[in-house]
Amino acid sequence: MTNRTIASITTAHRQLEGDGFEVRRPFPSTELDLLDPFLLLDHLGPKVEAPRQAVGTPEHPHRGFETVTYLLEGELAHRDSLGNGGLLGPGDTQWMTAGAGIIHQEGPSQRMLAEGGLNHGVQLWVNLPAALKMTAPAYQDVRSADVARSVSDDGVAVRVIAGNAFGLTGPGRTHTPITYAHVTVPAGAQRSTSTDDTHNGGIYVLGGHVVVNGSTVLEGQFARFGDGDIVELTGVDTTSDVLLLTGQPIGEQVARYGPFVMNTRAEIAEAIEDFQAGRFGTIAATTR
Ligand code: MN
Repeated sequence: MTNRTIASITTAHRQLEGDGFEVRRPFPSTELDLLDPFLLLDHLGPKVEAPRQAVGTPEHPHRGFETVTYLLEGELAHRDSLGNGGLLGPGDTQWMTAGAGIIHQEGPSQRMLAEGGLNHGVQLWVNLPAALKMTAPAYQDVRSADVARSVSDDGVAVRVIAGNAFGLTGPGRTHTPITYAHVTVPAGAQRSTSTDDTHNGGIYVLGGHVVVNGSTVLEGQFARFGDGDIVELTGVDTTSDVLLLTGQPIGEQVARYGPFVMNTRAEIAEAIEDFQAGRFGTIAATTR
Protein backbone atom coordinates (compact mmCIF):
# COMPACT_ATOMS: atom_id res chain seq x y z
CA MET A 1 0.00 0.00 0.00
CA THR A 2 1.71 3.14 -1.25
CA ASN A 3 0.38 6.50 -2.33
CA ARG A 4 0.02 6.73 -6.08
CA THR A 5 2.40 9.21 -7.63
CA ILE A 6 0.92 11.95 -9.81
CA ALA A 7 2.58 11.45 -13.19
CA SER A 8 1.22 14.63 -14.79
CA ILE A 9 -1.38 17.38 -14.36
CA THR A 10 -2.87 18.69 -17.59
CA THR A 11 -5.49 21.35 -18.27
CA ALA A 12 -8.45 20.49 -20.50
CA HIS A 13 -8.61 22.34 -23.81
CA ARG A 14 -11.86 23.76 -25.09
CA GLN A 15 -13.48 22.28 -28.15
CA LEU A 16 -16.71 22.84 -30.08
CA GLU A 17 -18.80 19.70 -30.56
CA GLY A 18 -22.10 18.68 -32.15
CA ASP A 19 -24.23 21.60 -33.27
CA GLY A 20 -21.87 24.02 -31.56
CA PHE A 21 -21.66 23.40 -27.82
CA GLU A 22 -18.38 23.84 -26.01
CA VAL A 23 -16.75 21.10 -24.01
CA ARG A 24 -13.59 20.94 -21.95
CA ARG A 25 -11.52 17.97 -23.07
CA PRO A 26 -8.70 16.81 -20.80
CA PHE A 27 -7.86 14.02 -23.25
CA PRO A 28 -7.03 13.24 -25.94
CA SER A 29 -4.69 16.21 -26.08
CA THR A 30 -1.15 16.90 -27.19
CA GLU A 31 0.02 16.15 -23.63
CA LEU A 32 -2.15 13.07 -23.10
CA ASP A 33 -3.14 11.25 -26.29
CA LEU A 34 -4.46 8.03 -24.76
CA LEU A 35 -5.02 6.77 -21.23
CA ASP A 36 -5.59 3.14 -22.21
CA PRO A 37 -8.42 1.98 -21.98
CA PHE A 38 -9.83 5.54 -21.91
CA LEU A 39 -9.99 7.30 -25.26
CA LEU A 40 -11.70 10.61 -24.54
CA LEU A 41 -13.25 12.65 -21.73
CA ASP A 42 -15.56 15.59 -22.51
CA HIS A 43 -16.91 17.93 -19.83
CA LEU A 44 -20.00 19.92 -20.82
CA GLY A 45 -20.83 22.98 -18.70
CA PRO A 46 -21.82 23.78 -16.09
CA LYS A 47 -23.70 26.30 -18.23
CA VAL A 48 -27.04 28.03 -17.80
CA GLU A 49 -28.87 27.75 -21.12
CA ALA A 50 -31.44 30.33 -22.14
CA PRO A 51 -34.70 29.00 -23.62
CA ARG A 52 -34.16 27.69 -27.19
CA GLN A 53 -30.36 28.00 -26.83
CA ALA A 54 -29.22 24.51 -25.82
CA VAL A 55 -27.84 22.40 -28.67
CA GLY A 56 -27.01 18.74 -29.00
CA THR A 57 -25.38 16.39 -31.45
CA PRO A 58 -27.11 15.39 -34.70
CA GLU A 59 -27.26 11.71 -35.60
CA HIS A 60 -23.86 10.09 -35.92
CA PRO A 61 -22.38 6.59 -35.84
CA HIS A 62 -20.01 4.83 -33.43
CA ARG A 63 -18.12 1.56 -33.69
CA GLY A 64 -15.54 -0.26 -31.58
CA PHE A 65 -15.92 1.26 -28.11
CA GLU A 66 -18.34 2.43 -25.39
CA THR A 67 -19.63 5.89 -24.54
CA VAL A 68 -20.47 6.51 -20.89
CA THR A 69 -22.52 9.67 -20.36
CA TYR A 70 -22.99 10.92 -16.79
CA LEU A 71 -25.38 13.82 -16.34
CA LEU A 72 -24.95 16.08 -13.31
CA GLU A 73 -27.57 18.72 -14.15
CA GLY A 74 -30.19 19.18 -16.85
CA GLU A 75 -32.10 16.73 -19.01
CA LEU A 76 -30.65 14.81 -21.95
CA ALA A 77 -32.60 12.96 -24.62
CA HIS A 78 -31.26 10.21 -26.84
CA ARG A 79 -32.47 7.85 -29.51
CA ASP A 80 -30.74 5.35 -31.74
CA SER A 81 -30.84 2.99 -34.69
CA LEU A 82 -31.86 0.05 -32.45
CA GLY A 83 -35.10 1.82 -31.58
CA ASN A 84 -33.95 2.80 -28.08
CA GLY A 85 -34.70 6.22 -26.75
CA GLY A 86 -35.02 7.90 -23.42
CA LEU A 87 -34.24 10.69 -21.04
CA LEU A 88 -31.42 11.14 -18.58
CA GLY A 89 -31.86 13.33 -15.50
CA PRO A 90 -29.39 14.55 -12.88
CA GLY A 91 -27.23 11.70 -11.59
CA ASP A 92 -28.22 9.28 -14.35
CA THR A 93 -25.66 7.46 -16.50
CA GLN A 94 -26.16 6.06 -19.96
CA TRP A 95 -23.70 3.35 -20.87
CA MET A 96 -23.74 2.68 -24.60
CA THR A 97 -21.74 -0.20 -25.98
CA ALA A 98 -21.47 0.78 -29.64
CA GLY A 99 -19.75 -2.49 -30.53
CA ALA A 100 -20.29 -3.37 -34.20
CA GLY A 101 -22.14 -0.16 -34.83
CA ILE A 102 -24.90 2.15 -33.81
CA ILE A 103 -26.26 5.49 -34.97
CA HIS A 104 -27.56 7.83 -32.31
CA GLN A 105 -28.60 11.34 -31.45
CA GLU A 106 -27.97 12.94 -28.09
CA GLY A 107 -28.87 16.38 -26.83
CA PRO A 108 -31.07 18.52 -24.62
CA SER A 109 -34.61 17.20 -24.11
CA GLN A 110 -37.55 19.10 -25.59
CA ARG A 111 -38.29 20.48 -22.13
CA MET A 112 -34.66 21.56 -21.58
CA LEU A 113 -34.69 23.16 -25.02
CA ALA A 114 -37.94 25.04 -24.40
CA GLU A 115 -37.27 26.16 -20.84
CA GLY A 116 -33.49 26.37 -20.66
CA GLY A 117 -31.71 25.70 -17.41
CA LEU A 118 -28.47 24.42 -15.99
CA ASN A 119 -26.63 21.91 -18.17
CA HIS A 120 -23.73 19.88 -16.78
CA GLY A 121 -22.42 16.48 -17.79
CA VAL A 122 -19.49 14.37 -18.86
CA GLN A 123 -18.95 11.76 -21.54
CA LEU A 124 -16.19 9.18 -21.31
CA TRP A 125 -15.14 6.91 -24.18
CA VAL A 126 -13.92 3.48 -23.09
CA ASN A 127 -12.14 1.30 -25.62
CA LEU A 128 -13.11 -2.30 -26.33
CA PRO A 129 -10.53 -5.03 -26.92
CA ALA A 130 -10.29 -6.49 -30.45
CA ALA A 131 -12.34 -9.51 -29.41
CA LEU A 132 -15.30 -7.29 -28.41
CA LYS A 133 -15.17 -4.50 -30.99
CA MET A 134 -17.80 -6.19 -33.16
CA THR A 135 -20.04 -7.29 -30.27
CA ALA A 136 -23.76 -6.53 -30.58
CA PRO A 137 -24.56 -2.94 -29.60
CA ALA A 138 -26.18 -2.60 -26.18
CA TYR A 139 -27.33 -0.10 -23.57
CA GLN A 140 -27.36 0.10 -19.84
CA ASP A 141 -29.13 2.87 -18.02
CA VAL A 142 -27.67 3.36 -14.57
CA ARG A 143 -30.20 5.49 -12.74
CA SER A 144 -29.11 7.96 -10.08
CA ALA A 145 -30.93 6.02 -7.35
CA ASP A 146 -29.04 2.83 -8.25
CA VAL A 147 -25.45 4.02 -7.88
CA ALA A 148 -23.51 2.88 -4.81
CA ARG A 149 -23.34 5.79 -2.36
CA SER A 150 -21.82 6.79 0.94
CA VAL A 151 -21.28 9.97 2.93
CA SER A 152 -18.47 10.16 5.49
CA ASP A 153 -18.68 11.91 8.88
CA ASP A 154 -16.88 14.94 7.47
CA GLY A 155 -19.29 15.13 4.51
CA VAL A 156 -17.37 13.53 1.67
CA ALA A 157 -20.05 12.12 -0.67
CA VAL A 158 -19.09 9.22 -2.92
CA ARG A 159 -21.11 7.87 -5.84
CA VAL A 160 -19.66 4.79 -7.52
CA ILE A 161 -21.13 4.14 -10.97
CA ALA A 162 -18.89 1.21 -11.89
CA GLY A 163 -16.04 -0.78 -10.39
CA ASN A 164 -14.72 -0.57 -6.85
CA ALA A 165 -13.74 2.49 -4.83
CA PHE A 166 -14.10 3.75 -1.25
CA GLY A 167 -15.37 0.32 -0.18
CA LEU A 168 -18.29 0.45 -2.63
CA THR A 169 -19.06 -1.46 -5.83
CA GLY A 170 -20.93 0.32 -8.60
CA PRO A 171 -23.76 -1.25 -10.62
CA GLY A 172 -22.33 -0.55 -14.11
CA ARG A 173 -21.46 -3.70 -16.06
CA THR A 174 -18.12 -3.21 -17.77
CA HIS A 175 -16.63 -4.96 -20.80
CA THR A 176 -13.26 -3.39 -20.10
CA PRO A 177 -12.77 -3.34 -16.31
CA ILE A 178 -12.98 0.26 -15.09
CA THR A 179 -13.80 2.19 -11.94
CA TYR A 180 -15.93 5.32 -12.31
CA ALA A 181 -16.69 7.36 -9.18
CA HIS A 182 -17.93 10.90 -8.48
CA VAL A 183 -16.65 12.35 -5.23
CA THR A 184 -17.82 15.59 -3.58
CA VAL A 185 -15.21 16.88 -1.13
CA PRO A 186 -16.09 19.73 1.28
CA ALA A 187 -13.40 22.17 2.40
CA GLY A 188 -11.19 20.59 5.04
CA ALA A 189 -12.52 17.07 4.50
CA GLN A 190 -10.36 14.14 3.48
CA ARG A 191 -10.93 10.62 2.16
CA SER A 192 -8.74 8.01 0.62
CA THR A 193 -9.34 4.86 -1.38
CA SER A 194 -7.22 2.11 -2.76
CA THR A 195 -7.12 1.70 -6.54
CA ASP A 196 -5.95 -1.20 -8.66
CA ASP A 197 -2.25 -0.51 -9.24
CA THR A 198 -2.43 -2.31 -12.61
CA HIS A 199 -5.02 0.21 -13.85
CA ASN A 200 -4.27 3.49 -15.60
CA GLY A 201 -6.26 6.42 -14.32
CA GLY A 202 -6.53 9.76 -12.66
CA ILE A 203 -8.64 12.47 -11.08
CA TYR A 204 -10.57 15.03 -13.15
CA VAL A 205 -11.83 18.11 -11.30
CA LEU A 206 -15.36 19.07 -12.37
CA GLY A 207 -15.57 22.03 -10.01
CA GLY A 208 -13.52 23.58 -7.21
CA HIS A 209 -10.00 22.32 -6.53
CA VAL A 210 -8.60 19.49 -4.45
CA VAL A 211 -5.29 18.16 -3.23
CA VAL A 212 -4.59 14.70 -4.64
CA ASN A 213 -1.76 12.92 -2.85
CA GLY A 214 -0.12 16.26 -2.10
CA SER A 215 -0.64 17.91 -5.51
CA THR A 216 -3.20 20.70 -6.01
CA VAL A 217 -5.52 20.02 -8.96
CA LEU A 218 -7.76 22.82 -10.26
CA GLU A 219 -11.14 22.80 -12.01
CA GLY A 220 -10.73 21.48 -15.55
CA GLN A 221 -7.46 19.72 -14.78
CA PHE A 222 -6.70 16.01 -14.98
CA ALA A 223 -4.14 14.47 -12.64
CA ARG A 224 -2.82 11.24 -14.15
CA PHE A 225 -1.77 8.52 -11.75
CA GLY A 226 1.65 6.91 -11.75
CA ASP A 227 2.74 3.99 -9.58
CA GLY A 228 1.13 3.04 -6.29
CA ASP A 229 -2.42 2.31 -5.20
CA ILE A 230 -3.70 4.74 -2.54
CA VAL A 231 -5.41 7.95 -3.63
CA GLU A 232 -6.12 10.60 -0.99
CA LEU A 233 -8.41 13.55 -1.72
CA THR A 234 -8.29 16.65 0.50
CA GLY A 235 -10.77 19.53 0.22
CA VAL A 236 -9.12 22.94 0.38
CA ASP A 237 -11.32 26.03 0.72
CA THR A 238 -14.45 25.20 -1.24
CA THR A 239 -16.62 22.17 -1.91
CA SER A 240 -15.22 20.38 -4.93
CA ASP A 241 -16.48 17.71 -7.31
CA VAL A 242 -14.11 15.25 -8.91
CA LEU A 243 -14.22 12.10 -10.98
CA LEU A 244 -12.02 9.14 -10.10
CA LEU A 245 -11.38 7.05 -13.19
CA THR A 246 -9.25 3.94 -13.44
CA GLY A 247 -9.20 1.22 -16.07
CA GLN A 248 -7.36 -1.93 -17.02
CA PRO A 249 -5.16 -1.16 -20.02
CA ILE A 250 -6.03 -3.15 -23.14
CA GLY A 251 -2.54 -2.90 -24.60
CA GLU A 252 -3.56 -3.17 -28.26
CA GLN A 253 -2.92 -0.97 -31.25
CA VAL A 254 -5.48 1.87 -31.54
CA ALA A 255 -6.65 3.22 -34.90
CA ARG A 256 -9.14 6.07 -34.51
CA TYR A 257 -11.03 8.20 -36.94
CA GLY A 258 -13.76 10.43 -35.52
CA PRO A 259 -16.51 8.19 -34.13
CA PHE A 260 -14.77 4.91 -35.03
CA VAL A 261 -12.08 3.31 -32.84
CA MET A 262 -10.57 0.10 -34.17
CA ASN A 263 -7.21 -1.67 -34.16
CA THR A 264 -6.10 -1.11 -37.76
CA ARG A 265 -6.52 1.44 -40.57
CA ALA A 266 -8.15 -1.29 -42.67
CA GLU A 267 -10.84 -1.75 -40.01
CA ILE A 268 -11.44 2.01 -40.00
CA ALA A 269 -11.87 1.95 -43.79
CA GLU A 270 -14.33 -0.95 -43.39
CA ALA A 271 -16.29 0.99 -40.73
CA ILE A 272 -16.59 4.03 -43.01
CA GLU A 273 -17.67 1.79 -45.90
CA ASP A 274 -20.24 -0.04 -43.74
CA PHE A 275 -21.63 3.26 -42.47
CA GLN A 276 -21.86 4.76 -45.96
CA ALA A 277 -23.58 1.61 -47.23
CA GLY A 278 -26.25 2.00 -44.52
CA ARG A 279 -25.20 -1.11 -42.60
CA PHE A 280 -25.39 0.73 -39.25
CA GLY A 281 -29.18 1.05 -39.66
CA THR A 282 -31.23 4.19 -39.32
CA ILE A 283 -33.01 6.10 -36.60
CA ALA A 284 -36.78 5.73 -36.85
CA ALA A 285 -38.70 8.98 -37.01
CA THR A 286 -40.06 9.21 -33.49
CA THR A 287 -40.64 12.18 -31.24
CA ARG A 288 -38.14 12.55 -28.46
MN1 MN B 1 -22.23 9.84 -29.72
